Amino acid sequence: MEDELKKVMVVLAHPDDPEFFCGGTVARWVAEGKEIVYVLATRGDKGSDDPAMTPERLAELREMEQRAAAAVLGVREVIFMGYRDGELMPDLRLRRDITRLIRQVRPDVVITCDPTTRYFGSGYINHPDHRAIGDATLDAVFPSARDRLAFIELWRDEGLEPHKVRQVYISGSLEPNEKVDITDYIEKKIAALREHKSQIKDPEGLAERIRERSSQSEDGAKPPYVEEFRRIVLS
Ligand SMILES: [Zn+2]
Repeated sequence: MEDELKKVMVVLAHPDDPEFFCGGTVARWVAEGKEIVYVLATRGDKGSDDPAMTPERLAELREMEQRAAAAVLGVREVIFMGYRDGELMPDLRLRRDITRLIRQVRPDVVITCDPTTRYFGSGYINHPDHRAIGDATLDAVFPSARDRLAFIELWRDEGLEPHKVRQVYISGSLEPNEKVDITDYIEKKIAALREHKSQIKDPEGLAERIRERSSQSEDGAKPPYVEEFRRIVLS
């Protein structure tokens, strides 16, 4: 990515989404001197099938795991918005809250996920929270963060100046147009994913799956490894 794009804000729904969707890209961009801030809408309080687990305990655990994973990748800050897992809606409240964060953090680049992806292939339904966060984030980038009179209270009452995001990287898109080479960073991505201990039952299987999914080669074993995005350059 271009050198003058220094600050990156990753806006996703759950702990572990950043590492799964863009962990290699984040590691690469940190190495290139970019500053990364994570914004997560929820604390992932539904992601357990342990009957003894409570949503409160799970939220605490997953927040800790997310902070540890972010530290592995060199992410500067992790912000939790406090929405409830599994109930995210792309409504005006969510759009305004993301708009506020964009105006506070003032990123050059935003990474989010594709709200138009309803399912992948024939074996995977996209999580509704992923669609919701992608939808609200794109709407916040354009036009709400940019326009002074959009959510006027942010400017009038909170003193937040409008902000123009330069580029958006959309993960989980069925129409990617950009590949980021993560060959040198795939082991770091896997190491970060391993911090999500409550979510990973088979760490070795996970590492293999990530290598296979990221690989461009037929046998899934050789580099180059990539993460794919739909990239939008806003003029
Ligand atoms: Zn998720």
